Amino acid sequence: HISKHYLVDGKAIPAITDINLRIEQGEIFGIIGASGAGKSTLIRTLNLLERPDSGRILVDGSDITRLSKTELQAYRRKAGMIFQHFNLIGAKTVGDNIRFPLKLTGEYSDAEMDARVGELLDLVELTEHRDKYAAQLAGGQKQRVGIARALATAPRVLLSDEATSALDPDTTRQVLDLLQSINRELGLTILLITHEMGVVRDICSHVAVIEAGRIVEAGETYSVFSRPTHATTR
Ligand code: ADP
Ligand code: MG
Repeated sequence: HISKHYLVDGKAIPAITDINLRIEQGEIFGIIGASGAGKSTLIRTLNLLERPDSGRILVDGSDITRLSKTELQAYRRKAGMIFQHFNLIGAKTVGDNIRFPLKLTGEYSDAEMDARVGELLDLVELTEHRDKYAAQLAGGQKQRVGIARALATAPRVLLSDEATSALDPDTTRQVLDLLQSINRELGLTILLITHEMGVVRDICSHVAVIEAGRIVEAGETYSVFSRPTHATTR
């Protein structure tokens, strides 16, 4: 049961309150809610970019809020993240953007990194763009670089914060297809935050609806969509 507030001009503003969720390995779990509902705060607690005020976050049975600094660094490699505005380094090449998280670990040789980048480029179908600058790519291609970078250290979970919100419908569809095939082929758990119903309907097996920092409804997407019990979901 996690909660988190922000201090704004000395006043405590609750962002998420008493959130209790269980996500199983291999699920594509959607969290949907309006702007300001607390979605980004919630997803950022899962790699401790935001630390909850209270509550535990159990990943494979261990509470990540109690990890030491070094343990947390290792854990973060197992929790890749993608963003609405991609967060690429525009003046670096596609290959170097994907290489970056590998380099940070200090654990791989140049040859190992080259090979891994090649595999990831194949996976996201950008092999021929390896030496282009990230800034030269179209939006959907940028997000595919974002996905490859997030997968570089072979995470157990992929955290997606509005990853398709800046993309047009066709490109959104392509990125969602890619996430779905990664989920199937790698068995990767995906936690996906969105304000778009279509995204949840298309790829999420499970969904939770968040409103004003609280989960108001959660379950299998089909049940929640066909028999919504809360006014917000309806
Ligand atoms: P969402 O991603 O659903 O739009 P957020 O998690 O970004 O929601 O925000 C939840 C609430 O917390 C909002 O009221 C927002 O204004 C507030 N908030 C988010 N980040 C900060 C911050 N860094 N400082 C102060 N308030 C914040
Ligand atoms: Mg947000």
